[in-house]
Parts: sequence; C-alpha cells; structure tokens
Amino acid sequence: MSQASIKIDGVRYIVTMDSERRIIADGAVIISGNRIDQVGKAADLAGTHADTVIDGSGMVMTPGFVNGHMHISYAHAARGLFPDDLGAQYLPNVFRLQGAMTDTDEYATSLLAITELLKYGTTTFLDPGSTTHLDACMEAYRQSGCRIIVGRNVLDQPNPLNIPVQETDAAIRLTDETISEFDGAMDGMVSAWAMPFSPEFCSTELLSSSHAIAQTAGTRSTLHFTNGSRWIEECRRSYDCTPTEYLDRSGVLTPEMTLAHCLGISELEAGLIAERNTAVVMCPTAAIKGGAGMTRHALLPELLDSGVTVGLGTDAGNNSNLLETLRSVYLAAVLYKDGRQDVSMIPAETALELGTIGGAAALGMGDIIGSIEPGKFADLVLFDTRRAEWAALHNPINSLVYNADGRSVHTVIVNGKVVVASHKPRFVDEQALVAEVQDLGEALIKRTGVDYPPRWPVI
Ligand SMILES: [Zn+2]
Repeated sequence: MSQASIKIDGVRYIVTMDSERRIIADGAVIISGNRIDQVGKAADLAGTHADTVIDGSGMVMTPGFVNGHMHISYAHAARGLFPDDLGAQYLPNVFRLQGAMTDTDEYATSLLAITELLKYGTTTFLDPGSTTHLDACMEAYRQSGCRIIVGRNVLDQPNPLNIPVQETDAAIRLTDETISEFDGAMDGMVSAWAMPFSPEFCSTELLSSSHAIAQTAGTRSTLHFTNGSRWIEECRRSYDCTPTEYLDRSGVLTPEMTLAHCLGISELEAGLIAERNTAVVMCPTAAIKGGAGMTRHALLPELLDSGVTVGLGTDAGNNSNLLETLRSVYLAAVLYKDGRQDVSMIPAETALELGTIGGAAALGMGDIIGSIEPGKFADLVLFDTRRAEWAALHNPINSLVYNADGRSVHTVIVNGKVVVASHKPRFVDEQALVAEVQDLGEALIKRTGVDYPPRWPVI
C-alpha cells in the first residue's frame, strides 16, 4: 500500500481528456507531490491511502482550464469604466491608465485577476507581455500558486495606441533578458516567452530576432495577430502577400509560435498556418464585445478542420470584461452554430478540448498539463453538481459547456496544492483585496483624468 499526498475519492464523473477521452463514473485520483499518480475507479483505488482525502461525491472533475491570452496586470483597476462604443479611443486610454500604474498597484490588480481566474477554474494562463513591473508581480504569482507564462511586449514602430516605442536593439535585448531571467522561475511554475506586440508595430528584424531568441532558449513566442483591412492592404502593397505569408517570410510561422486572436485570415492562410504547425489562441469574449465579426473573420472551424492546434483566451478585463475561460468555451460552442446557421459547428466536446488539452498544446504544454493522466502535473478542478444549474445531470460534457459556469467551481488544485476550497481562495483575503483595488482604481482615474461616468445619472 503506497502513501500519497492527496486522494480525491468518490468523484461523480472524472472528465479525463486523455487520448480516449474517457469519462470515469465514481472515480478517484491520487496525487503524489505535484503530479497525478493514479486515476481510476474509486473501487479499484480503495486500497490506496493518502495524507489528505478530499470527498469528490457530487463533483465533476476536469483538468484545470488553460487561458492562452489574458492581460492580467492592469485591467481590474478600471474594469467596466469604458463605454462599450468607445471605438478607436479605447486602446490609447487603456495604455494611458496602465502607464500610470505603480508597482504596488500592478501587484494588487494582478493578484485580484489571478484570484478570479483560479476561483473559476483557470489554472494556467499566458499574460501577453503587458505587465510593466514584472518583478513586483512575481510575488502575486508565487502567493497564488498559479501556472503562468510571462514576457515583455516589445515594439519598434510608431503606433496609435500610446505604447512606448523602443529601439530595435533594445527591444531584442529586453526579450533576451526577460527569457533568461524568468523562464523556469519558481520551480518551473513561471515560463517566459518572446512577446513582440504585433507584426503591424514591429519591424521584420524585431519579429525574426525575438522569435529566434525564444527558439534558441527552448521556449516560444506569441503576438497579437488581428488583421484589419488596413494591415491586410499594407501587406499586399509593401510585401505583395497576405499577413500570414508575411509571418512565414519573416521566419516566425513555426511550431514555436502561438498567434493570438487570429482575426482576418483567409482559408488559404488557415491552410498555411496548419502546414507550418503554428498554434492559435482565439478570444471569443473579446471579439464579440468588440464587434469583430468572429464567425466571419475568425475561421475557427476551418482552422480545426485543417488540423491547427487551437486554444482559447479572454484578452483583457476591460475589453472582454470577463476572464473566465469556461465562458470562452461556451461561446466557441455556440457562436458558429448561430453565425453559420449549422448546429454541427464546434460540438460541446470540441469546445471543451479547446479550453483544456487543446489550450495546453497551443502553449506547448500538452505533455505536462491539460488532461487528468498519471505523470501529468496535478492541475484539477472540482465542480459541485449539487446546484440547480447542473440538474438533471446525464451528460457531464453538455452540462458543463452549456448549463454550468465557473460559479460551481468548488475546489481547485494547482501543481498538487489546493488553492481554492469550498469556493474560497486560500491564498488571499478576497474582500480586502477588492477594496484595495477599488481605492487604487479611483486614485488612478483621478491621477490620469481618464474618466467615463455612467450614461445614466448617479444620484
Ligand atoms: Zn491582447
């Protein structure tokens, strides 16, 4: 009889996301240290004891959700401030607010965003390089116990977004230093990637060199790949090719690249992305609120049909407003059914793959997280199905994707450590942190003058 550190016993359904996509009814999971040791029927594991036993009765267990594009560091201070029809004024104002934040501000807003992510089941996420005070925010990552990919946005071209422009050499050096300093930090809980902002605002040299640095270091790159008509036209005029072909010619359309958003591509471009084995992360929550025309311009079904590895993200708390990966899973499942008037588009099972094993693969982590299998890191979520939204439970996949959301997340384990128990984060006083971020958000608005009062009178 072996001793294990945690046993989760009598789980109503374990949605393993293993290669056979097995769903184990009345199952158990044994965690040893930070890894999953055994997964099976509760009856078969009855003889294995553990230091801690968690009662899984009435629970559906899934792997921790993976969010491949989520700016965690600044949005909570001003979330909900912006009217929904701000248009082109939106991003410059966001970056103005962000530029005025102090390191302690950013630590608090990051910790609050991570609290929200973990509470609703997201255990791994990629912060796409917008954190300014990375050193201060490392404490938030350590405290919360999340699994995170960090980096520093670099760009060397003038842009209308108020993002500071760097010299090309300095931007390349910063990418190199960031990867050297942070990749593999905190016993591997932190990874660092190259994060050139976008092909529109980076020179070809910066794109190519930063990606080469990531490849040499054995890590990856991501960039914003949102192709509006202006950029598509510029690629045609200046390079006589499509935006995707431009990435290919620049040497960055490789298996070590994750393209975020991937809006405004053609079917031919989807084919090229597949051929190069480049990964994609789509952010439906942000796309639809921003009126991007997701079902017309983001070819998710075509990318999947071509064999592209796709994950999901939520972008930022002040453009999508919500950070819950499971909401993106729901939208992936329903949007294309409606937009294409075809109920065979993106079945619930496929949508769930995008948020778990597919999302992990899109971040190059498919062999270590994203499914519940022996040897993988123990990143697990328990949903309490003894709630109205889960009734009646006959098919855990349909119920999870279409009825439930993060509110029923009861317990979250990351790297073998319980970080959320009975719906409450264990690593922070959530109410005190919310009050702190309210205060610093109000101070930030006062300091910058970026203010948009509600349209209705507040009396
Ligand atoms: Zn972004």
